[in-house]
Amino acid sequence: MGKEKMNQKHELKKLDRMPERMRLLARIEKAFENPAEFYRFERIVFPVLEHPRAYNAFAKSGLFDERAPVTVRVRTGEEMMLRISGLLSVLRGYEENKMNDIPHPLKFYLEEEVFFSPAHKKEEIVEHREWAISMIGDEGPIAEAEITQIFWKAFEKLGLGDRVQFRINAIGCASCRNGFRSSLTSFLRTRILRFCKQCRRNAKISNVKVLQCENEECKQILEQAPQVLDFLCEICKKHLKGILEFLEGAGIPYFLDHSLFFEGLWYDTIVFEFVYRASAEGETPSPVVIMAEGGRMMRAGEAAYGKRLDVAGGALFIDRLEQILIDKGKLGLGQKKIEVFFAHLSDAAKKKSFPLLEELRQAGVSVEESLGKDSIKSQLNIAERIRAKIALILGQKEALDSTIIVREMESGIQETIPQDKLIEFLKKKLKKGA
Ligand SMILES: [Zn+2]
Ligand SMILES: [Zn+2]
Repeated sequence: MGKEKMNQKHELKKLDRMPERMRLLARIEKAFENPAEFYRFERIVFPVLEHPRAYNAFAKSGLFDERAPVTVRVRTGEEMMLRISGLLSVLRGYEENKMNDIPHPLKFYLEEEVFFSPAHKKEEIVEHREWAISMIGDEGPIAEAEITQIFWKAFEKLGLGDRVQFRINAIGCASCRNGFRSSLTSFLRTRILRFCKQCRRNAKISNVKVLQCENEECKQILEQAPQVLDFLCEICKKHLKGILEFLEGAGIPYFLDHSLFFEGLWYDTIVFEFVYRASAEGETPSPVVIMAEGGRMMRAGEAAYGKRLDVAGGALFIDRLEQILIDKGKLGLGQKKIEVFFAHLSDAAKKKSFPLLEELRQAGVSVEESLGKDSIKSQLNIAERIRAKIALILGQKEALDSTIIVREMESGIQETIPQDKLIEFLKKKLKKGA
């Protein structure tokens, strides 16, 4: 029992990926990477282990209150942290990699696995695959705008355009956030007994958490609550306005969500998320899935660099998006059609196979082979199973006189042609058949 319980505690989310899932992953990666590269974001990679030293500053700034890093003990007895977000790795590595010497803005994207323990379930380990995008050195709204545009275009490309909602909020910068917070505290203090149990508990941790309560009675009281947008300083107002204007220009619908705060995470000033709604407009609402999150990361930047660093970032939870695409049947998982099968007869032919296959590869012809099998019958069985249009057969004689047999699988018609004419011949044949 004791052992069972322990195993359960440490069971990681299943993120094993077999080839079928990999094909889906490749599609997702492409959908996000294409617009990112168009806007000149470049891929970078960081290790999964982080030194606790690097993470201490983030923890001190309250960035790990909601998700705590997972600690592992290595053989030296030293404790290391598992990467919690690629966005923080970028900041951790900013100085070490002398990024301050490179002309800004810096534009990066990353893809990797991240780990954390939820604040309320410290013994649990959550594992995600994340696709993240980071922009450093631009203080204006263009940073958020580009990140939003890239995510939006990717969701559209994956066929989710009509079910994705973009939610955004301005939660105040270091100079204006306290005004709203203290006003909200006063508001809650005089009414706290009318709120639900969860709200009363949340109010003790952070008062903005109360704003997200779904309870009807709580919602009603909150209608009179102070609104964060009324407390923004001129810079924050202008920033938000700039982002919204861009979104309107780009035709990206948005929802200004006054209750979105990402308290205890590494986003601040401007926060946003992309949610997926399984139900269409007018249908019974179904629970939403948060597919991506993001925002300014001023506190995180300062914690890492020691002085002001204009950072904005966004992160996609790839596994959640994968599940949505699987549920929707929007997979397109079919394997790439292979039209040509390469069969060999005799050892002499086998030895000549690789140079020929390589020629086909370089010419962009997809070929399936089965060099491990020697019987022509079992090789041709494979050709039939994958529904190849053409089988190339290299026998001993052909290997010696540099020819090859080209056989049309359906009709069984075959002819022998010189190997140096093969590519041209094949291309003509495949084009005709298509
Ligand atoms: Zn402000
Ligand atoms: Zn409540």
